Amino acid sequence: MRRLLWATQILVINEWMCGGWSDPTYRRELACLGYQGVMDLLYGGVLSRTVPEITRSVVLAWRGALTWTGWNRKHTLMTPLWVGTWLAHVAGLEGFAKWDHIGITLLGDIWGPSSLNSFEELQREFGLHRSQFFKYLQLRHALATYGLKRLEEFNPLEVKVLSGKMGRGGVSRLYKSLVIHTPDRFDCLREKWEGLVGDLEEEDWRDASMAHREMAISSRLRLLQWKIFHMAYRTPALLSKMYRGYEARCPKCSGAPADFFHLIWHCPVTQTFWAKVGRTLSGVCGRPIALTPRVGLLGLLFDVGGNRASRRFVGMATLLAKREIARYWMRPVSPSMSEWRAAMDWAAKTEEPIYLARGCPHKHSKIWGMWWDYFGLQSG
Ligand SMILES: [Zn+2]
Repeated sequence: MRRLLWATQILVINEWMCGGWSDPTYRRELACLGYQGVMDLLYGGVLSRTVPEITRSVVLAWRGALTWTGWNRKHTLMTPLWVGTWLAHVAGLEGFAKWDHIGITLLGDIWGPSSLNSFEELQREFGLHRSQFFKYLQLRHALATYGLKRLEEFNPLEVKVLSGKMGRGGVSRLYKSLVIHTPDRFDCLREKWEGLVGDLEEEDWRDASMAHREMAISSRLRLLQWKIFHMAYRTPALLSKMYRGYEARCPKCSGAPADFFHLIWHCPVTQTFWAKVGRTLSGVCGRPIALTPRVGLLGLLFDVGGNRASRRFVGMATLLAKREIARYWMRPVSPSMSEWRAAMDWAAKTEEPIYLARGCPHKHSKIWGMWWDYFGLQSG
């Protein structure tokens, strides 16, 4: 389970690196860190309290994956010089802002086939001024403490994730390389889902495991879908096994045992909510939208038909419905339709500047236009 979490969260890093910075959602989440701040955290910097929770979980996943694959604190040509703690003696040096400024940022920028490049070589390559010779000696001295030799090996995680160019194929390669160690648990998860939704084709299962990426722009919502997919929620049924005397009954309908599927789907109170959401969506789309567990929970949106924009709309609507259910997870109240509608309005407004920034506002109106038409709202 942990490896799956890592793979999914590490994908977020790739998006930070490949333009996630221009995306307002990420920009908000990472505003207090900056690019250097992120690199510092990825390479061992202290996770202070001011680091947003979502960033923290991504960083911890990255560190966990490095340890798991045996690459933690192994220096490569991609190890950053001035931030992080992998080269703490170097990062602690003062007065190297100029070096950073002219493009000397990674170990690979100054390291030759088996040793530090000479000062003359650095002068040639980066136009380093001769007044920096003393700094060069300082740097050489600091590096000597690490006993570095040949650094020809590239850590595949670094290369894939930090390059920011991980395409669709790259994503599944990373996913596979981390998942391969836990095939049994993954099969077990699939069996559980098949118990609810019936047999899943190989392609359906793969789509379901990646659905979080298709459904939302916000990484917060993506993590929500990831948690649903992995059933990563406490339930009365689970707690009653852990603590003697804990009631396995559902806090909403008093039915027992209240396991994950009961709370997210079967509970009569939750079913009423899902039915109302389904009716609203059918009204908005002007055609029947069948909210099966495949669509509503696993995000297998091809089931609902329609074009890409309307699938995206249904995906977002079900995601926000799940968020409402999660908010009232083990509480004796029903998820609220009015809060779901408010969340939909909020999502429509929040996504507008994102599509605008990406130069495709027409996509936004394709996705959200019907919603605004139906409820008579204006985009302003
Ligand atoms: Zn119930």
